[in-house]
Amino acid sequence: MSGAATPVTAELLRTMPLPRHREGEDKDQRGRVLVIGGSVEVPGGALLAGVAALRAGAGKLQIATCRSTAPQLAVAVPEARVLRLEETPPGGISPAEAPRLAEAADRCDAVLIGPGMMDGEAAAALTAGVLERAEPARGGFVLDAMALHRLGACREVLRNHAGRIVLTPHAGEMAALLGIGRDTVLGDPLAAARQAAAALQAIVAMKGGCTFVVTPQGRAWLYDGGNVGLATSGSGDTLAGVIAGLLARGASPVEAAIWGVYLHGEAGVRLARKRGPVGFLARELLAEIPAIMAATA
Ligand code: AMP
Ligand code: MG
Repeated sequence: MSGAATPVTAELLRTMPLPRHREGEDKDQRGRVLVIGGSVEVPGGALLAGVAALRAGAGKLQIATCRSTAPQLAVAVPEARVLRLEETPPGGISPAEAPRLAEAADRCDAVLIGPGMMDGEAAAALTAGVLERAEPARGGFVLDAMALHRLGACREVLRNHAGRIVLTPHAGEMAALLGIGRDTVLGDPLAAARQAAAALQAIVAMKGGCTFVVTPQGRAWLYDGGNVGLATSGSGDTLAGVIAGLLARGASPVEAAIWGVYLHGEAGVRLARKRGPVGFLARELLAEIPAIMAATA
């Protein structure tokens, strides 16, 4: 399917409402999220993503991260259960942890892999190892940042989870994914997103000044809001976490991606009003999410 992308607006989102939660529901029913991420150099990526998932309304959070930074992370995010993982020499998560993480993934409704990971080779092997072992047709996956590294080599594994994975590349990550130049991606980001979504059988949120959300069949949406203040460290980690949180609550992968992109962008708009157009922090986006979600629903 080609054709124009549908603009993402509050009116559109009201036609795809998020799951409603009954008063009697417990935290397991509200959705369990597992964030696999962080590194010795960037432990905070997993923090931002994990808290974003809770701010998007998920009920329960586990963060699986490097052994040496896990205690600090557990103190910084008291809401999370923190799993301590063996490390690679450069300070990433060891791919040998894939079997244990796949078991943990099977007990969750949404799994996000990638935020804060720095060791690309280890991240690629770990991501492939988790996807290979995770039960197909359980929860959904969000793959961001280093979890996208060498993902093109995992097509068979990805097909086992067809339609249940959301990829959130920026232009550089998309270029690496497709083996083309970054300028080519920037020249036609929608075409790049459609190519990746079809090849990998995943929902793609192609991030940038405008963000396209595309299905494997080529259906596309465009969010043209947000602002340049969102071009800041950790911003993508918060987006990936919001999408994972919505997935855990029971939104479909494409709805979680569209809603997530909108909520993240509108949080940037609200912060720009409060703080100024640039200089707000990715961590400040988090607390904005619930009110925007409530006002849009
Ligand atoms: P990342 O590069 O992974 O940290 O992600 C950055 C996030 O900020 C993505 O969601 C982008 O779509 C968003 N973003 C970056 N620059 C802009 C911009 N100029 N206008 C609107 N959104 C932006
Ligand atoms: Mg990023």
